[in-house]
Amino acid sequence: MTWKDPSIYINRIYVEESCLELACTRDILARAGLPWSVVPERGKPNGLDEEYVGNLSAGKRQLYLCRNRGVFFKPCPGTREYQCCDYQVLNTGTNCPIDCVYCILQAYLNTPWLTFYVNTEDLLQELEQSLAVHPQRFFRIGTGEFTDSLALDRLTCLCRPLVQSIGRKNNAVLELKTKSAVIDNLQGLDHRGRTIIAWSLNSPVIMKKHELRSATLEERLEAARQCAAWGYRLAFHFDPIIDHPGWQAGYKETIDKLFATVPADAIAWISLGALRFIPSLKDIGIRRFPRAKIYFNEFVQGLDAKSRYFRPHRVALYKVIYALLKRKASDTTCIYFCMESDEIWQEVMGFAPGDKGGLPQMLDRVVR
Ligand code: SF4
Repeated sequence: MTWKDPSIYINRIYVEESCLELACTRDILARAGLPWSVVPERGKPNGLDEEYVGNLSAGKRQLYLCRNRGVFFKPCPGTREYQCCDYQVLNTGTNCPIDCVYCILQAYLNTPWLTFYVNTEDLLQELEQSLAVHPQRFFRIGTGEFTDSLALDRLTCLCRPLVQSIGRKNNAVLELKTKSAVIDNLQGLDHRGRTIIAWSLNSPVIMKKHELRSATLEERLEAARQCAAWGYRLAFHFDPIIDHPGWQAGYKETIDKLFATVPADAIAWISLGALRFIPSLKDIGIRRFPRAKIYFNEFVQGLDAKSRYFRPHRVALYKVIYALLKRKASDTTCIYFCMESDEIWQEVMGFAPGDKGGLPQMLDRVVR
């Protein structure tokens, strides 16, 4: 059994009444070939939210196609206290069929099903307008904040209009971040180097045991190699870095395989971020995955109220992984921390983002 395409886990689709005639809805229903039912306007697809945590697993099989009545495009909710990369989030839907033990969405959302916004014409129009009103500003945009960017793409095919739309812009890049290997729709697009395809990576044992229904390391890297051959820039995110028995050998194995498979100079950036979570996630994670050990460690509450490993512990993890990456990475690849302090940057990398103009500028320079 392979989970290169986790959308095969979905077994039922619900459609909000007013979205029935949208071309996007019709196309998804035709591609999926699954049973579907109509939900009254602004209604709920089912009662799974009444016992939210208990139904998180069942919700992963149910896809709700509805309208986003709010904004699609907004700044990533980073925290002022840490070095933030100034990312813009394009909200295409919520939740995904993969099930990660550490997924923050378990505590962040209150609906257990998968949601995809089928008013994609509105999304594309809003994106177009947002970029047009700030022609001097450079945007790094991602769709992977509230879902996996490609896990549903076999059904939605959203990456095609998105990649082509961003390809026509000079003031933006799009990052599609995934743990799947769903890349077929990326072939043959006029992306003009403006889309970066990114994979989250971890040590093999964490990927296997804590990222259920995700593509294997080999499947992710083979997909990345193929995307590089299609001319896309790549990115990789070691996030969350998790302390576990054998972590040094595990991260080394992943990094060795990464650089053995993918051309180093195709990689735009690599991020590092140690495990962190809001307090309510711990109870949910332990209840859903009682055998997982990741929440049983010593944590300190950070300035953003998230639990993290103590600073010396984070530095020890980062130093090993950063050294492994530096040995093989291209000089043009930006290796950075997601939400860490200047002190950590100094201790591990020997400089703070401010020395190089700031983290957003460091990342912009790679892709502009
Ligand atoms: S792939 Fe991302 S969105 Fe999906 S469960 Fe894992 S962490 Fe959450």
